[in-house]
Amino acid sequence: LDRNDDGRARNILVFVRVRPMAKKEKEVGSRSCVRIVNNREIYLTEFANENDYLRLKRLRGRHFTFDASFPDAASQQEVYSTTTADLVEAVLQGRNGSVFCYGATGAGKTYTMLGTFDNPGVMVLAIKDLFNKIRQRSYNGNQTVHLSYLEVYNETVRDLLSPGRPLVLREDKQGIVAAGLTQYKAYSTDEVMTLLLRGNQNRTTEPTRVNETSSRSHAILQVMVDYQALDANMNVIRHVGKLSLIDLAGSERAIATDQRTARSIEGANINRSLLALSSCINALVEGKKHIPYRNSKLTQLLKDSLGGSCKAAMIANISPSNLSFGETQNTLHWADRAKHI
Ligand code: ADP
Ligand code: MG
Repeated sequence: LDRNDDGRARNILVFVRVRPMAKKEKEVGSRSCVRIVNNREIYLTEFANENDYLRLKRLRGRHFTFDASFPDAASQQEVYSTTTADLVEAVLQGRNGSVFCYGATGAGKTYTMLGTFDNPGVMVLAIKDLFNKIRQRSYNGNQTVHLSYLEVYNETVRDLLSPGRPLVLREDKQGIVAAGLTQYKAYSTDEVMTLLLRGNQNRTTEPTRVNETSSRSHAILQVMVDYQALDANMNVIRHVGKLSLIDLAGSERAIATDQRTARSIEGANINRSLLALSSCINALVEGKKHIPYRNSKLTQLLKDSLGGSCKAAMIANISPSNLSFGETQNTLHWADRAKHI
């Protein structure tokens, strides 16, 4: 698994995480259609008679193998250590990296990325780890960790730390930057959770589901690291790296509604960013020279964090319920494809 089909070292690792069965899913008598076989393997079962659970019959199944498969009991720390700790190490060496959560709405993406106060997710655990390691390695105690938290919704980029007008993407010598984006200088892990929770409340909500964070919004946390350390020969080396942590929009197909106005345009645009990400991943899988980053705001923003010498981790989030079988199957197929980069 560490090498690609053609022997290249793999730059993207792919994981799957099953969330616990929700109360609602239990109440309607749904059954689990996934089984974690071992650390790496997951088995997906399709049932016949989906609508009549008393007569649910196993129809057929399929095995998938990933770099790790997490059961519903996996802790946030376990998920962080296995999926992201190595990326944090690479960023400390001055490389760029990115971590994505992919999956249908309700599959556990935001829980995995952001988590809660009591169970912080990958974003917070990564920053905590960065702070600890920089403190140990910094040669003069000087260090900066800057955070930007932004949203791509309907092909519009917004600053989640300082909501206001849409931001314009510009290309300069550092790459693609969102003009005017807040760069928050962070000093401790404690303040970060509060900051991110507040930022998350600024995510665009759907007009039809007022209390829910939009399933169509991509949230991107960028962590910029800059510090100096001594190498083996006692030379001072400056390390500048960037980690991008992305809570992607729901991967389910936009539900057909009668109101084919604003919302279907939003649907099309969400597809644009997710489709563009898929196209970039496909192009990377096939080892193409031209990667179509320009096709969406999301991929433009991720241009310097995907491909090349960048390291990436993809976490596919799924519900265990047979009621979500279709979405789970799609998610696992997508993740299986991403494995070949
Ligand atoms: P998404 O962001 O993919 O739409 P959420 O992260 O909001 O999904 O998860 C949906 C619900 O399931 C939330 O109430 C969340 O707290 C819960 N949940 C998701 N994953 C887990 C998990 N691993 N352990 C416990 N609860 C979880
Ligand atoms: Mg979410």
